[in-house]
Amino acid sequence: MDDSLQHEDFMRRALALAQENVNDGAPPYGAVVVHNGEIIGEGRNMVHEKKDPSAHAEILAIRQAAQHLGQHRLETCTIYASCEPCPMCLNAIRWARLKKFTAAHRLMMPAAQAQKKVMHRPHPVPYRNISCKKMDALSCIT
Ligand SMILES: [Zn+2]
Repeated sequence: MDDSLQHEDFMRRALALAQENVNDGAPPYGAVVVHNGEIIGEGRNMVHEKKDPSAHAEILAIRQAAQHLGQHRLETCTIYASCEPCPMCLNAIRWARLKKFTAAHRLMMPAAQAQKKVMHRPHPVPYRNISCKKMDALSCIT
């Protein structure tokens, strides 16, 4: 299969998951994680359904992919999402070390509208560039 067609199929699946949410009166968020040309994780926003504030589409897709691969690092995987990730999901993407993500749209909008305005913007996810400082623990107890 042509890579670009496959790329579109993955995004279509993420948008279909988002549309399922919209049909249920929920926000338009869907995501899939792809490994070696195969979807190994998918999710849609289930915050209300699961009464879990972390049940965002990307988080659920990442969890399923990690279970599938039996590891928490997903360096060989790509995530396709209906919208750009929130800060929590972006950090989960970084922690899981996914190689890139593709978002269909920047703004929150119904998936049907997003589908018309799909803009493939694959780009590498920056690795954690958090500044760390070593601190002498003994100096804290005196
Ligand atoms: Zn999120």
